[in-house]
Amino acid sequence: MRIKLHNLIFIGMVAGVLIGLGLWALGRSPDETHQAVCTHMLWWLDLFGPTVFMGALKMIIAPLILASIVSGVTSLPDMKELGAIGWKTLAYYFCTTSIAVVIGLVLVLSIGPGKKAASLEVRNRRVAELEARRQAYQEMAGRPALSDDGVPTADYLAWLAQEEGEQRPGDDEAGRFEKLAGARDRTAGDIFKDDIVSPLLMNPFQSLSANPPNSLGIIFFALLLGIACMVVGKRAGHVVSFFQGLNAVIMHVTHWLMSISPFAIGCIMAGLVARNGPEIFQTLGWYCGTVIGGIVIHVGVLVTIAAVIGGVRPLRLFQGIREAYMIAFTTRSSAATLPVTIANTTEKLNVSPKVANFSLPLGATVNMDGTALYEGVAVIFLIQIYGGLDDVSITMTAMATFLIFITAVLASVGAAAVPDAGLVTMVLVASAVHLPIYYIPLIFAVDAFLDMFRTSTNVLGDSVGAIVVNRLERSRLGSPAGA
Ligand code: ASP
Repeated sequence: MRIKLHNLIFIGMVAGVLIGLGLWALGRSPDETHQAVCTHMLWWLDLFGPTVFMGALKMIIAPLILASIVSGVTSLPDMKELGAIGWKTLAYYFCTTSIAVVIGLVLVLSIGPGKKAASLEVRNRRVAELEARRQAYQEMAGRPALSDDGVPTADYLAWLAQEEGEQRPGDDEAGRFEKLAGARDRTAGDIFKDDIVSPLLMNPFQSLSANPPNSLGIIFFALLLGIACMVVGKRAGHVVSFFQGLNAVIMHVTHWLMSISPFAIGCIMAGLVARNGPEIFQTLGWYCGTVIGGIVIHVGVLVTIAAVIGGVRPLRLFQGIREAYMIAFTTRSSAATLPVTIANTTEKLNVSPKVANFSLPLGATVNMDGTALYEGVAVIFLIQIYGGLDDVSITMTAMATFLIFITAVLASVGAAAVPDAGLVTMVLVASAVHLPIYYIPLIFAVDAFLDMFRTSTNVLGDSVGAIVVNRLERSRLGSPAGA
């Protein structure tokens, strides 16, 4: 009896978790031999999971985005069709991402994970720390840290920011913290110029070879190339067939990679669990529960949209994209999952390749519902814990909530489709409401875990987008309905 691929992937995930728990226990044993075995095993797991499997997926995504968009655009009957697909896709992305953020905000404000007992402990520890900081500052500067009416002085706050920025993260967190610090102190104009305009116009060879690839630049160049091929017509025939051929070939490579995915996914899972163990959830349990609860509700919204507008019933939807869903969950990268997302939606859900080849690469790059939801929840959670302390003079007014909504949508668009990307763009949301970024490391510990949920939701959102646009355009494209 042949076991189906999606069942094998599931078995791989469960086996990975069990092996990971075993290794985690082994790594904590006082016996040095046990620890050495654990380190050795982790090396092999890293080799087969992140290095080989994710490396191979990443190897093919840059040429795949280029080839799929050019072949998608050039297979459309005319420019009018491209415009119709384009605006419907973007309208869908904007609506679903906004819904995701609203769900996250409503949940975090009503549950209040930052006000639960475990969070109060964190806050109390911080209050004690700040007390010590104040003393240190007063001794060093020879003047009070707070003004007569109890407001922290600007000089004290500047000193505090410097001290915290330098000392807070531990060694293994320093790299991530540096990324956060690098993203701070930029105006909206800088972000627009450096993160949107410049990448769009980057030399395409540079975009393809960057690590991670510059997806925005590749998409823009591919659109230009595809539109130009349509305008030039017959003389561009060879260019068009080259990209259509390249697209078909890369999809074939994707199937080869999918066949080794159960084993690789087991390795990635085992490595993650072995490193983090179950104990990280103690302090951040309510926070994780709020993010996951929001994601479950948003998945319900997406499934409803797929059924009502896209005409695809929930069971059929999940059966169609289960491989992509599980690969996204484990690799934590929408970009690495993209080849499988295209294969699943076109082969199992009857989405026309004309729509899928265009909308899925775009969606993997800019449409991140899970990330947007998570960013809003995370920032409000931190404000709930630390709000009102010396350096966090934020009150959750309607204006602050609105700012968080807008910046969470923008930050999700700007996040790269790679693991941990959402954590870095969260700086935009935190800075908008003046939450110092040195508070963000509190949630580092559970970020990889939550990244699994947000990435799989991102991929689900992209797939539902392709299904919806396919249904709306099917009369013109002449492709079968999704259901
Ligand atoms: N890992 C996510 C993705 O690839 C982005 C994020 O970190 O939220 O879709």
